[in-house]
Amino acid sequence: MGETFISKELLYEKAELFHVKLDQEALDRFDIYGRMLVEWNEKINLTAITDPEDIVIKHFVDSLTIFHDKEMAQGSKIIDVGTGAGFPGIPMLIARPDLQITLLDSTMKKLNVISDILDEIGLSAEIIHSRAEEAGQNAGFREKFDYATARAVSNLRDLCEYCLPFVKVGGEFIAMKSAKAEEEISEAKAAIKVLGGKITDKKPFELPGGDERTIIYVKKISTTPSKYPRPSAKIAKNPIK
Ligand code: SAM
Repeated sequence: MGETFISKELLYEKAELFHVKLDQEALDRFDIYGRMLVEWNEKINLTAITDPEDIVIKHFVDSLTIFHDKEMAQGSKIIDVGTGAGFPGIPMLIARPDLQITLLDSTMKKLNVISDILDEIGLSAEIIHSRAEEAGQNAGFREKFDYATARAVSNLRDLCEYCLPFVKVGGEFIAMKSAKAEEEISEAKAAIKVLGGKITDKKPFELPGGDERTIIYVKKISTTPSKYPRPSAKIAKNPIK
């Protein structure tokens, strides 16, 4: 066996802590992803995390924690908003190639990188170059997804305005947050209600190594009024209170 970039044993073992069982093909794909991430990072700024062990824990396992308390049905449609270098969307696709994943970001050069990575690992996803506020007003994307996900994109209140319009009634927006979740939840309460959502659960936990995380589950219980999402300047100037 040749030299690998990441420790596949470490990834297998730590993913299993979150009830995710990775097969050999998935581990091989993660290895290619890690190597390409670091190679591309020398040309464009994608991540501050470049040590292989940190990539495994803080990008790959962190992204996979989305599955630990969530049974997503076969073929679920998911949009990852502000995916950047593909987190959590690409790890989700590697672990569950049956999912139909859309990766959205406003930065074209990051999307070029993830397109190259997907080609190399032999998986496909829909890639959308747009701001979330604009795509959310497009009938082709509005209320079309079972789940929206976002990690490290914005505060929960603004994120709900970006993400809930994509979600079908009955679906869910899953926000991956760090430790300050309670403050964000209270700041987002009014917006969640206006946008047709309801917080149904929140799961605090620690990543291996001790970083604190909280996953917040926002169920879509009614249609989002058509005026949302508003243009980004309006969201910034006049947040829903
Ligand atoms: N989700 C990735 C992660 O966890 O590594 C990327 C996080 S990065 C800090 C934030 C990303 O969100 C950037 O790639 C940025 O271009 C994108 N972004 C921020 N606001 C956005 C918006 N309104 N619409 C689309 N993409 C947005």
